[in-house]
Amino acid sequence: MSDPLDELFSPRQLKRDADTLAEWGRDWTRSYAVAPSAVVFVESIDDVVKLVQAANQHDFKLVPSGGRTGLSGGAVAGHGEVVVSFDRMNRILDFDPADRLVTCQAGVVTQTLQEFAGEQGLSYPVDFASSGSSQIGGNIATNAGGIKVIRYGLTRDWVAGLTVVTGNGEVLRCNHGLVKNATGYDLRHLFIGSEGTLGFVVEAQIRLAPAPQPQQVMVLGVPEFRDILEVLRTFQGALTLSAFEFFSEQALQKVLAHRNLRRPLPQPVPFYTLLEFDASALEAASEAFEAVVEAGWVVDGVLSQSEAQAAALWQLREGISESIAGYTPYKNDLSVRISQMPDFIETVDALVSDSYPDFEVCWYGHIGDGNLHLNILRPESLSVDEFYQRCHSISPKLFAEVSNRQGSISAEHGVGLLKRDFLGFSRSPEELEIMRGLKAMLDPGQILNPGKLLPLKS
Ligand SMILES: Cc1cc2nc3c(=O)[nH]c(=O)nc-3n(C[C@H](O)[C@H](O)[C@H](O)COP(=O)(O)OP(=O)(O)OC[C@H]3O[C@@H](n4cnc5c(N)ncnc54)[C@H](O)[C@@H]3O)c2cc1C
Repeated sequence: MSDPLDELFSPRQLKRDADTLAEWGRDWTRSYAVAPSAVVFVESIDDVVKLVQAANQHDFKLVPSGGRTGLSGGAVAGHGEVVVSFDRMNRILDFDPADRLVTCQAGVVTQTLQEFAGEQGLSYPVDFASSGSSQIGGNIATNAGGIKVIRYGLTRDWVAGLTVVTGNGEVLRCNHGLVKNATGYDLRHLFIGSEGTLGFVVEAQIRLAPAPQPQQVMVLGVPEFRDILEVLRTFQGALTLSAFEFFSEQALQKVLAHRNLRRPLPQPVPFYTLLEFDASALEAASEAFEAVVEAGWVVDGVLSQSEAQAAALWQLREGISESIAGYTPYKNDLSVRISQMPDFIETVDALVSDSYPDFEVCWYGHIGDGNLHLNILRPESLSVDEFYQRCHSISPKLFAEVSNRQGSISAEHGVGLLKRDFLGFSRSPEELEIMRGLKAMLDPGQILNPGKLLPLKS
């Protein structure tokens, strides 16, 4: 019997060679076995609909795939699934200046949208280190955050309309770019952050922001972890911040070595914060700087003198993830309310030192959003499997601390495979049942991204 995929797609769209399967079967995680049966490069909404219909009819599974920069294994195809790549649905379809609304296909790369916004004299303010590869569809499916959340919010805040193909093969057009729409359940938000388990994002209407004023960047050296929050409070009390990031000296050392960069400050300091703000707020920022130095929270600092220097300072933070990728790090992406942060940091710091005395730990993250990235680096002496098993065995203790504070075990990277079995630390049994019910309604054949996000029932 012939394969239904061969009947539906030409060899230009349907690939089964080993290189394509290996490359498109994975995401940024390198710790899961990859074994898709095919990759389909969809080119239209109709392509997606007919693929979903065929999958339901012939009972094969589909894995939506964007830029494959995901950090939780959400786009990994490890069990003969068909990968559905949006690389060729990469067109900006429409722009309406009056609405400041851009309509684009799911495969538009995030940076392409940012550049397009810039050409219109506007901006798309969701930004992170992987925006040169990630796609809008993937950003929506993970509700991506990034470095400007403190001022501009998450991907969710910019999605004004969404077209999805559900697991039933139905095409839903949600919200149509409206600002106000009080007509009941907003289905758009159900699909945002659903990690390809309820439907395919095929098109989106994205709202653009006014162009930002020129920005200035400061990097400050902070000897004590908990004082970072005092620094945040002082600066937030004085001006509007566009970013407030932090990283540890260990994390800095990795970037300096990987990118051959210079230290921001003459002497190493245990922790650093990176702040960005409107250049017009420089006076207020200088006063805040004096206050945090006087209080003893900050020992030294550097202020960007040009755009090039600002970009160089940003590299220190944005280059970290890439610089530690070779260590197959075990990534924790935790969040608690800012008010809970000082106590949380202290507890987690002690737990990590006790539990991983022989592992190198890199801290960094979007601390202004209550979001910590805790990366545990694999020693060369351990295989990836052994290392992950050891980290997994400690995770429940760490996640219990998150749960005690009603925090999140995945602030912005999604659940995927990596956090699936721990979802109960952030979601109640009642919530999980409702989530399963929604999955059953929108994907009754269970063809979409099987085994991801929702814990398997024992
Ligand atoms: C260096 C680096 C830095 C990063 N920094 C950040 C950061 O600061 N903030 C942050 O939030 N994330 C960050 N990430 C994670 C990642 O870039 C985001 O999660 C991003 O949104 C993933 O987009 P993608 O297109 O690569 O999706 P993929 O990795 O391809 O897929 C992610 C998930 O979305 C699903 N999916 C993809 N496309 C679709 C679609 N069209 N329809 C339905 N489902 C789909 C996949 O099945 C998968 O579950 C970083 C990653 C790297 C490598």
